[in-house]
Amino acid sequence: MLKTFSGLQILSRYYLFTEIIVMQSSKVEKYRDALREASPEAVLSYMNDQHPGKLMFSSSMSAEDQVITHMLTGIVKNPAVFTLDTGRLFYETYDLIEKTNTRYGIDIRVMFPDRQAVEQMIKEKGINLFYYSVENRKQCCHVRKIEPLQRAIKGYEVWVTGLRREQSPTRNDLYVADWDENNQVVKVNPLLEWSEDQVWDYIYAHNIPYNPLHDNGYPSLGCKPCTRPVLPGEDIRAGRWWWEQPETKECGLHSKHEKGR
Ligand code: SF4
Repeated sequence: MLKTFSGLQILSRYYLFTEIIVMQSSKVEKYRDALREASPEAVLSYMNDQHPGKLMFSSSMSAEDQVITHMLTGIVKNPAVFTLDTGRLFYETYDLIEKTNTRYGIDIRVMFPDRQAVEQMIKEKGINLFYYSVENRKQCCHVRKIEPLQRAIKGYEVWVTGLRREQSPTRNDLYVADWDENNQVVKVNPLLEWSEDQVWDYIYAHNIPYNPLHDNGYPSLGCKPCTRPVLPGEDIRAGRWWWEQPETKECGLHSKHEKGR
């Protein structure tokens, strides 16, 4: 039977929803104030103290994410680290997962896409659907990345990412702490203001394991069919979904405005 709501019930739900949004915004404002000049390590430490046991890190095994794994394992005992196996990764990425587990004594949880959803998508649109339209590409990213990530995030309150502002024009309006409406968590970007040089200086200084493809012209790594090496002087994201315009080059994992991804 279809449930109907009275005007009063709808109004009270609206006020409850608004109250939650206001509560979350003021919490995030508090974090931004507290973390204004904080180092990435201080950001991680502070957020872990604010949400003990409720902080998760989703690593794509990128250079930035390897920096965060290094920092996090020095701050949090048994941190919750996840990665997404889309089924289309480079061999070197799998190798790096193992190396990272061994180096830091952790067990990165590998999330897989829903088998039926992948099979259905490929049946309808083909194995390499992503090359034929932005819509197809986003669908593939949704099935192989977003849905598994949403499962991984459930039950956590803080989602740590390795996003940097200078990586893409789509990352201009990020903050060190933000409310992620889609996943209902505080999203934290400790490396937001770091340059690429800072990332690599840190990696070399601490002998952090990284994907060897970075030494072969791949500044940014994702799935194999959607990543190519870049030429000297090209933008660092030029090798990702290179057939698309820069404004569409996000997989949706970090979209602030996209609902129901
Ligand atoms: S990056 Fe390419 S292969 Fe990977 S999930 Fe997105 S569209 Fe699919």
